[in-house]
Amino acid sequence: MKLATEAYVDGSWVPGTRRFAVYDPFDNAMIAEVTAGDAALADTAIEAAARAFPAWRAKPAPERGKLLGALAAKMLGEVDRLALLCTRENGKALSESVAEVKYAASFLTWFAAEAERAYGEAIPSSYSDQRLLVQREPVGPCALITPWNFPYAMLTRKLGAALAAGCTAVAKPAELTPLSALALAQLADEVGIPRGVINIVPTDHASEVGDRFVASPVIRKLSFTGSTAVGRSLLRACADDLKRVSLELGGNAPFVVLADADLDKAVAGAMIAKFRNAGQSCVAANRFIIEAPIAKVFANKLVEQVSQLTPGRGSDPGVDLGPVIDDRAVAKLIKLIDDAVEQGARIIHGASPDGRSRLISPVVLDGITSDMAIWREEIFGPVVALRTAKNESDALAQANDTEYGLVSYIYATDAARLTRFIDGLETGMVGVNEGLVSTAQAPFGGIKHSGFGREGSRHGLDDYTALKYVATRL
Ligand code: NAP
Repeated sequence: MKLATEAYVDGSWVPGTRRFAVYDPFDNAMIAEVTAGDAALADTAIEAAARAFPAWRAKPAPERGKLLGALAAKMLGEVDRLALLCTRENGKALSESVAEVKYAASFLTWFAAEAERAYGEAIPSSYSDQRLLVQREPVGPCALITPWNFPYAMLTRKLGAALAAGCTAVAKPAELTPLSALALAQLADEVGIPRGVINIVPTDHASEVGDRFVASPVIRKLSFTGSTAVGRSLLRACADDLKRVSLELGGNAPFVVLADADLDKAVAGAMIAKFRNAGQSCVAANRFIIEAPIAKVFANKLVEQVSQLTPGRGSDPGVDLGPVIDDRAVAKLIKLIDDAVEQGARIIHGASPDGRSRLISPVVLDGITSDMAIWREEIFGPVVALRTAKNESDALAQANDTEYGLVSYIYATDAARLTRFIDGLETGMVGVNEGLVSTAQAPFGGIKHSGFGREGSRHGLDDYTALKYVATRL
């Protein structure tokens, strides 16, 4: 199938007046030039989503579900092609791209079924001649803004719920990874999702397009996944029009290992929680907090596993770690590592990157303290930051010592300890002896500066539906 490089608006491919280049993060080779969406194209897309909305919301839910299911099947039928495209523009190891395509399709499958379960309520009235009913209705055309780290999954997690609820959508993928979103639009077109229901506006001028999305009174909801700083400014911008907003923002996940944990399982979980997408995930383990009696043995076991990782071009066989996304990401990692070392941390595996390549070999740092930037900020790279906790309550205090609250990981075996710990964690999600929590069946989302709203699960439709209460006197 031809590589889609044009904006997809109102069921048509729009070349636009200008294009921008998309590069392979591994070698900076240009992959394609893509339509550079501007304010005018954003407006056209919004109008298309508005025009398509009445017919799409009126379509019986099972029919909407059937189209979502067909799109999921198409994705799965083309998993290899889609995965390779993702690896090219994002850099991640091919096996991870395959997993992402399947994960992305799972949201469509999930919401295809949820469409049929957008139940209302019948409420007992105080009067025999009165009926109280609640029905759920789609909020309207939605704006979806997604990041580069999971270019398929972050989009389908929103699109699946929006379309299932009866909403139409205008989406803006990240500048660095628009091709995956456009490939998805191609498949949506093929399976017959009506024109205007999905519109994709790629751009290298995010705020120009984003400003139109948030300013338009037609758009009734914004769903954003990305950094806390951008999320906060979009939330402010949505205030005037009182748009509904869902924000899936940054994380600073603690990965806690208490002394009674099964250490082999903890190390296996740590490898998944830390190194997926070369550490560039909002749910990546950021701060390893290890109870003192096992700190040394955990560090040794972890280093043993880390030293077996193979960095390289994502599409090469046997590669576990692709490059980080761009030069800014490299510079940030160097800054975080150097700052930690200056303040007394020790590198126990690897070395601070030399800045000449985006391929970052894993680094393990020990002796982290709360004064270091690496403790406060999202690392977003293959760097492990280890800190020792005196005891359980110290570990809990350390885990909660962050403005973020997306996910926390806890490894222990004692049930009472685990329960206390889970109850004390300030977080939207917890992995208990589990390094991978993301799944379409469960509510994904955070608290504190990690945002609000939930994606996936039966709660995922809530963000795209409004309750209409009807009191009827018979
Ligand atoms: P980002 O800079 O905030 O970008 C995210 C999206 O917002 C991109 O599409 C970006 O477009 C767009 N954007 C930037 N400025 C904008 C503006 N003024 N108006 C409208 N849109 C704008 O974040 P990122 O660096 O790409 O992604 C990494 C962040 O996402 C991390 O903090 C990570 O934790 C978070 N994340 C969170 C979740 C979650 O579910 N909680 C999942 C994945 C990632 P451009 O690409 O064109 O700049």
